[in-house]
Amino acid sequence: MNDIAKRITLAGWDERYAELRAAGLDEPDYGGPLRRHVEDGDLRLLKLQMDNSAASLRLWNFLLTEEQRLHQARAEGKKIVGAMKDLGTVPVMAYSLGNVVAFYPDGAWWIPCVMQCSDHLLEVADLLGIDDSFCPVRAMLGAFVTGAHFPIPGLLTCSVGAICDDLSAIAQRLESLGFPIMWWEVPHRRHPEPSEASVTLPGNFPAPASQVALVRSELQRVRQALETFASQQLTEQRLSAGIARANQVRRRLGELRQLAYRAEPCPLPALEMLIAEMLALHFCSDQNETVEVLDELLEETKKRILAGTGVLAADAVRVFWVNPVADLRVMNMLEDAGGRVCGTEYLFCHALDPIPEDTPPMEALARMVLADPMVGSAADRARRICHDIDEFQSEALVISRIPGASHCAMEGAIIGDIVRSKTGIPVLEIEVPPITDSMEPTLRTRLEALIETVRNRRQQ
Ligand code: SF4
Repeated sequence: MNDIAKRITLAGWDERYAELRAAGLDEPDYGGPLRRHVEDGDLRLLKLQMDNSAASLRLWNFLLTEEQRLHQARAEGKKIVGAMKDLGTVPVMAYSLGNVVAFYPDGAWWIPCVMQCSDHLLEVADLLGIDDSFCPVRAMLGAFVTGAHFPIPGLLTCSVGAICDDLSAIAQRLESLGFPIMWWEVPHRRHPEPSEASVTLPGNFPAPASQVALVRSELQRVRQALETFASQQLTEQRLSAGIARANQVRRRLGELRQLAYRAEPCPLPALEMLIAEMLALHFCSDQNETVEVLDELLEETKKRILAGTGVLAADAVRVFWVNPVADLRVMNMLEDAGGRVCGTEYLFCHALDPIPEDTPPMEALARMVLADPMVGSAADRARRICHDIDEFQSEALVISRIPGASHCAMEGAIIGDIVRSKTGIPVLEIEVPPITDSMEPTLRTRLEALIETVRNRRQQ
């Protein structure tokens, strides 16, 4: 069997799948050829280049069967929690209970891309008064109203306060349509006054102890709502065990990021790394399987590093990427232009940091909530990005704006200025809608220009 690491198209995957099967590939129950997802409507796969390993096949199949997994969980009598916005906290609490599955309805963000808008979720949102002046998370509204994707959760939570206007408005519209929401508040993280008691959060952000206490009391309300919903007590022991399980995922992701973003040549493409990082948020609705999927990716990555092989040229330009792309294809575009992703801040870096285990569990979770990069200032976010650029020795920064996103109006300029002045690396800001086909030449040219700039700098 030809085991050379490379990125392949879906047609390439048809052949590769047959080859792997013939060689005795052992798959989980959600396994199978990637082609079947296209037949189910995931048309964007036809335009992507994907990694050719069995580990990546498992990752893609895991991602693309999440809706089925949620429906199956409902059929098995499990309780379904829909967590909105907090990115990485409520699912840790929910998975600490038995018989509960949590997911992010906000993940519908990517449905218009993956289905190439054939699902018409954005049009449904338009009809509900949420037009394209909002970010693509408005697809969530369409998914709730049509009921054509995830099962409607029995409990919906949403963090409010220091969150984007988009999700805040869309969640309120959702509630007005008859989907009750348990709201909980997160204050805007501020720097402690000199005389004020303070706490150092994961990610090294300082915060006033009083703000941590406020979030802890809000999370206590979430805890009570989960207990009532699941008819179980969410004890300290259960929470501690749940945090330890979440950290198993986070530690594996930490190791994978270190390997994939440092090794030369690049052992795992940006697209698969983006999907892997997203598993930190709600474990793609199966926490145990997430660990297995990550273990296989780690094994493949280590194997490639040991063999000195990779998917891109050894001199690929090392790019730090800020914000998730609404169109997954753009991650391919960067690599086609001669770049590779070395460091990311996809709006949820706090969900990759281990949750403190030497602290009472509710305090630890409250600290994590306040470590969310979107809860503080853009300048704080930029400082963490500078730190990570240094760690991964990134040579350029791409800030990928999200169309309509309220936070994207100004933050790119602030982050770009701070990164330029502190690191001196070139910065490119682009806007990525759910489908980029019509603007591909422009995007490609801009990415190529960035890569060329770095190559010229290398020669100086
Ligand atoms: S505006 Fe940004 S933070 Fe808010 S939902 Fe959209 S992508 Fe997420």
